[in-house]
Formats: sequence, structure tokens, C-alpha cells
Amino acid sequence: MKGCIQIIMRLAARLLCVLCVLSGSSFFAAALDREAFTITKYDLDVRLEPEQQRLGARGKITLRNDSQQPQKTVALQISSSLNWRAIRAGDKPLQFVAQPFTSDIDHTGGLSEAIVTLPAEIKPKDSVELEIGYEGVISLDMTRLTRVGVPEEIARHTSWDQIGRSFTAVRGAGYVAWYPITTEAADFSEGNSLFEVTDRWRAREASSEFKAKLQMSGENTERPFSVICTPSESRLTSTEVTNGGNCSWQQLGNVAPTFAMARYVSESKSPISFFSLPGHESGAKTYLDAFVPASIFVSNWFGKPTIPVAIADFADPRAAPFESGTLLLVSMAAADTKLAGVNLVHELVHSVIASPRPWVYEGLAHFGEALYREQQGGREAALDVLGLHSAAFIDLEKDAADPRLNVPGQPLVTSFDETYYRTKAAYVWWMLRDMVGADALQQAIHNYRAADDTDPKYVERLIETASKRDLGWFFDDWVYHDRGLPDIRVQSAHPWQDANSKTEKQTQIVTVTLENLGLTGAEVPFTVRCEASDVTQRLEVRAKSTATTRVEVPCIPLEIVVNDGSVPESDVRNNVFKIIDEHQGSQK
Ligand SMILES: [Zn+2]
Repeated sequence: MKGCIQIIMRLAARLLCVLCVLSGSSFFAAALDREAFTITKYDLDVRLEPEQQRLGARGKITLRNDSQQPQKTVALQISSSLNWRAIRAGDKPLQFVAQPFTSDIDHTGGLSEAIVTLPAEIKPKDSVELEIGYEGVISLDMTRLTRVGVPEEIARHTSWDQIGRSFTAVRGAGYVAWYPITTEAADFSEGNSLFEVTDRWRAREASSEFKAKLQMSGENTERPFSVICTPSESRLTSTEVTNGGNCSWQQLGNVAPTFAMARYVSESKSPISFFSLPGHESGAKTYLDAFVPASIFVSNWFGKPTIPVAIADFADPRAAPFESGTLLLVSMAAADTKLAGVNLVHELVHSVIASPRPWVYEGLAHFGEALYREQQGGREAALDVLGLHSAAFIDLEKDAADPRLNVPGQPLVTSFDETYYRTKAAYVWWMLRDMVGADALQQAIHNYRAADDTDPKYVERLIETASKRDLGWFFDDWVYHDRGLPDIRVQSAHPWQDANSKTEKQTQIVTVTLENLGLTGAEVPFTVRCEASDVTQRLEVRAKSTATTRVEVPCIPLEIVVNDGSVPESDVRNNVFKIIDEHQGSQK
């Protein structure tokens, strides 16, 4: 019944929107290319009034026509809970039609769209600067989740964005359009539509410049609010900057500009600033205590952390953590030591390495988490960290490899899909570590310079130079193309006793042939198991190929297990191979 009402409500909302498009602006509906323009520069002044949950913004944006055609109109979109007040070019007010636009890219499930008639036609690659003004409220809104059937209790802790009287946290595009965007409609219920539209938007804005000055208005008799957006060291030491903050990026990369505002207790352990809420002292202490070991680990592996990073607390202890660039929002209400350590390592890796490439920036941070767990709990603990979110990624890769689905793969090197640049990238860095060793990979990471990372093959060359190994095939399969995952099995295993062996009688040699059924190659570990001990070796098996090697074992081999979980595979059901008794002791 509940689902039924939701569907009806949803249809009604859609119908309303369609009607208004038809009656209000049918002229634009046919011709409008909503993604023709990319906003290349934002310069906004944002006033926040927590008592009224209000946001008011004024400023300038620069739009570039990235389409092939000249454009006379542009569709500017903000959250449906905000309203357009003014749009001008130079000192001339521009005509615009404001209309609701259904899209799940915003937490309200809708956008306020202004269809603006530009003063002149903008040619492809040309830009235009507009002055804009908009205002409204940003309150807790779970619409886009609840209308596809997510229970309210879960939606509340996921869709937590709001300007609140005592606590504010608002994420950028993909969550709340608190600054203008230009996108096609995104739909949660239609496969990957929401993610595709959001990823496309992030990719288009990756080299855009973003500047927003946030200022809280209203009297402050109590302890002042801290406004946190882009972490900066200087802001913490200066008292005049409370009640205000800066969101500033030369290049957005994969950042969704996010701000938080509360009466935080702040503590700095350079380069990390910790912002905790009163009452969460013990959790905050857990983070502070985890800082030194995490910092030593990251300094040894990746280099010295220097870029300012902030970790800020949530008022809702069950709020889903969120990270954007160098700001991590995570509840400190009951912080777990292990989790605090891993989170700190992640943020400290960001503090060492800036990169315009999401797979390098986030991939290395997640890889760092796994390395840290390996140091504490061994290889298995590390593989657990890598595998934590692997299900979604493996599903996407299965689709990419299935020719019947015709799903285009996503090369990691240019992907703006979180599943790829976080989960897949972490595996790729881990496999590289296993292949070339820690020393060579560390050397390559130390030599990495964001400014030099302009050629897609830059990272490959750094690691090849450090390891003196040809990795072209690996980067081709895992980074430059996306052809799904490997599927490796033992094709055959023949144990035999070396007649010339001068070693103990028990020593056996096993000739192992591995077969890769997938379109992506890998160097995979495999273990020959005996009753008393195991021997693990590694073997490179290219796509749609076999590879053979010999393994010496000190006892009678019983089975072979291929892949310990460090190589993501499309099918792991064929990874155990039982060695048949009749082969035992036979001579080759
Ligand atoms: Zn990160």
C-alpha cells in the first residue's frame, strides 16, 4: 500500500512538472541543451541564518559553452527549496523563466531552474559571466530517498543535509544544489541515472575554480560558531574568522563543496584540525590519541603530511560519514579506536598527496587504510578493508564485461564514479604493491607531482622507472581500459618427484597451469597446500591466456587455492583445485 501511494505521488509530481514545462516554457523544452554550459568559475558570497535555516547568496559565475552549437539560453539550477532573485549580465538584468525541474541530484528531489535568455548568442568555447542572486531555506529533506521506498529511519541518517539552529552540514552537488549547476534530470529509480548525471557533472567541473565566502549573520552572545569548508591552518589560529569561513578550490577535482557549522570545540594537531561537539569528549580523545601512530605510519610510507585537513563531528551520532576533499565529517559520539586510526590514515594521505586524478587521490588514501590494517592485523585484515565495498564494484565490472548489456566500461584513469576511484583504485594500488614491492612503489609515490600528472601514462612511468619492470599490460587492462575483471582458475596441476633431487624424499614438485577466462590480466598469488605446510607463489596470467610454473613443496600436495582476495575477480567459485591422488608420487 505504502509503495503504491509512493508511485502515485511520484507520478503526480512528474506530471505536474511536465505540465508546467508544457504550459510555461514549451518553447525551451524542445531546444534546450541543459548540459551545453559548464560553470568554470564560481565567486559567491553566502549568508547563513541558522535561526531561519536560511541561505542567501550573491555573486558571479562564468559559463563556458562546451557544446558544438551557439547557445542563446542557459538553464541554471539550484535546490528546489531555494529561489532565484536576480540574474544579470554586466549591469543589465536578464529575462528568465523560473520553473521546478524534477531531479534526484538534489535531496529535495527537485531543482529550481531558471531558463535564462542570454544577452547574445554564445559561440562554442566562448564564455559569459553572470551576476546571480538566490535565497531560501535548506532543511532536512528525505524526499528523494523515501519516494523510492527507503525507510524514513534510514533516510534520516543518510540524507542529513540541513542548515540547523545549532548544527549545520550541507554537501554540494549530488546532495544539495546550494550553488548553481547545469544538468539533465537524474532519477534514483532508473538504474544508474542519478550516478551518471552526477559523475558527468563532476567530470565537467573538475577543473573549475570555486570560491564561496560563508558568513553567518545574527547576534552571537554565546560561544561563536565555527564555519568549516576548505580546511586551512591559518583560519584556526585567527579569532576574527569565527562565524565565517571560506570554500575555495583552484580546481574542484572530485570535490563536492561541503560546509559544516556548529559551536565546535577545536583542537589542532598539525596538519589536522579536529572539530568536536560538546558531550563527545571521549570520542574526540580517541581521535586525538590515534593521531601519532597514524601520522608516523603515513610519514614513513607516503611522505610528510603538510596540506591542512579537517575532521568534524556530527550532531547525529548515526549520521553516515562523508568525505569531500580534505574535509571528513564523521560522528565522534562513540569513536572506535581502529576506525579512528584508519580514518586518520586516509585523511593524512590526502594531506601528503594532492592529485587532480580521483583514482590517484582517493585510491592512494584507501590503499593507505589497507596498508595500516596490514601493519596492525596482517594481510587478511588488509584484504578485509579492501573487500568492504567490493560487491558493488564487482557487479559494475560484470556489466562492463557482458557484451549483451552494451554497458561502456569506465577507464579508471578518467573515472568520476566513486565505486571505481575508491574501491577499484585501492585494489589497483594494492596489486601494484604486491607486484613491484613496497620500496619501488614508495619511491614512485615520493616522486609523484600533481602538476606533472598531465599525461595519463605519468603514473605508469613513475612506477616502471622505480621498479625497472614493464607494467604496460597491467595499466592497459586495469587503468586505461575497463574490460571487466579477471577470472582465474587452476587448469591443471601435476605433482611429481624430482629423481635428481638431493633434498629430502618428501620434496615434491608441482607443475601448475593457471588459466584466465577474463579479458583483464593479473599477477595472482596461489597457494599449494600440504598437510603440514603451504607454499605461496605468484604468477602473471594475461587476459584469455594460460601460464605455467613449477612449485617445490616439502610434502604431498593436496590442493591449490588461487587468489587470496587481493585480485578482484568476476568469479571466485573456481578458485580451489583438488589434486587427484593418482598423480601423487608419479614421475615426469
Ligand atoms: Zn578521501
